Amino acid sequence: MKRTRKTTEQLFWEKVSVAGDNECWEWLGYKNQYGYGNFRAKGVLKLPHRYSYELVHGEIPAGMVILHSCDNPGCVNPAHLHLGTQRDNIIDTVKKGRNTRAGHIKFERSTSARKTREQHFWEKVKVSGPDDCWEWTGGQTSTGYGAFKNGRMVKAHRYAYELAYGELPSDLDCCHTCDNRLCVNPAHLFAGTRKENLFDMVQKGRSLKGERHNMHKLTEADVIEIHSIHKTARETHEAIAEKFGVSRRQISDILHGKRWSHLNLITP
Ligand SMILES: [Zn+2]
Ligand SMILES: [Zn+2]
Repeated sequence: MKRTRKTTEQLFWEKVSVAGDNECWEWLGYKNQYGYGNFRAKGVLKLPHRYSYELVHGEIPAGMVILHSCDNPGCVNPAHLHLGTQRDNIIDTVKKGRNTRAGHIKFERSTSARKTREQHFWEKVKVSGPDDCWEWTGGQTSTGYGAFKNGRMVKAHRYAYELAYGELPSDLDCCHTCDNRLCVNPAHLFAGTRKENLFDMVQKGRSLKGERHNMHKLTEADVIEIHSIHKTARETHEAIAEKFGVSRRQISDILHGKRWSHLNLITP
């Protein structure tokens, strides 16, 4: 090389607050709403905890995720990182009743291309490097997530998650470590509880105001989500109305069964 460029490893360590052997080594670079870091090295998106693990132990085997024994997603101390399966992680989450601090796996495209529906799915994805965002190019939900018709309409990232890790319990959300709603790279997806996911959204001001094309049109999926938010997050009608870009009256009518009552979502 003619120019002296910093290696990826140098770039990485510049952003780590290295502390004692048993302490957390905090990532000082960008972190997303879930506390996960990421950085770009030579144009490639890297996930710091995963990168740190690989520096010490070599490549992470396919199908495995990196878990934090310290529950601190921003920690990159290799002594706090260990291999696990996504299933371990979900079981752990449910047991501890907390948000998952899932790691990341590499996803082999070939393993998921067996079934026609899966092929159909992957045809609509811009697949790139294992750590890059893989953007969904098909239709979108009213909230800006990829939408895929799998019998009924499902969220594309959730579908991708389930292809990679198996079925996601219905009370868990599929969350992005990369903050990119259209991304379906399973390495960027993890399971979280719905309440925490919604709480995060509200906290970070990621309300959907202004993002929607049809300010007054709700889909069946929206209505289901509205009921779910109301039940799990106990948000005010006003907050929910703002999130979906509709009037508070509309939300109140939905929650009182005056609208969309055919969905039978009211529990006595
Ligand atoms: Zn730690
Ligand atoms: Zn992504």
